[in-house]
Amino acid sequence: MKKLEDYVTSIPDFPEPGIIFRDVTTILQDADGLALAVDGVREMLKDVDYDVVVGPESRGFIFGVPVAYAEHKGFVPVRKQGKLPREVISADYELEYGKATIEMHRDSIKPGQKVVIIDDLIATGGTIEAIIGLIKEMGGEVVKICFIMELKGLNGREKLEGYDVESLIAYE
Ligand code: AMP
Repeated sequence: MKKLEDYVTSIPDFPEPGIIFRDVTTILQDADGLALAVDGVREMLKDVDYDVVVGPESRGFIFGVPVAYAEHKGFVPVRKQGKLPREVISADYELEYGKATIEMHRDSIKPGQKVVIIDDLIATGGTIEAIIGLIKEMGGEVVKICFIMELKGLNGREKLEGYDVESLIAYE
């Protein structure tokens, strides 16, 4: 029986020299790989009391929606600037190279809602830190943050101190 990590493809020097890109498409294209990933996150959440799943574009959608559907929760997308059609709140954050802006619909999280964030991978943690800020601005409470993969060397967890953070695969 293959393990989830066996389905990840690691590509050296993509998209630039020095980065090892952890490709999830080889998880997704295999029925067993996809089930291991989605069921692995569902298992992380089995004792968690929450109302809604939040996932960032685009790989957070891929893993967040099947978990939300299976657990009968709603799903709230976080998108890149300019994509959402109604009133939004925005956050700017630093990437390893340059800056980015993410947005959520202003009414997407209700005050007091308990939120789980799901994404494919934590690298620097900058994306999730920005999302936490937006959720808090709307009055939501982040109760758990789930990743398929974690790159330990970039210390992303330091940005998420105080939060319950879990990943299925950790790379040193
Ligand atoms: P970060 O904000 O630095 O934690 O990373 C944000 C996103 O960048 C992750 O959710 C991944 O989708 C992507 N990413 C960063 N580094 C890698 C990597 N080495 N392999 C694959 N995706 C990556």
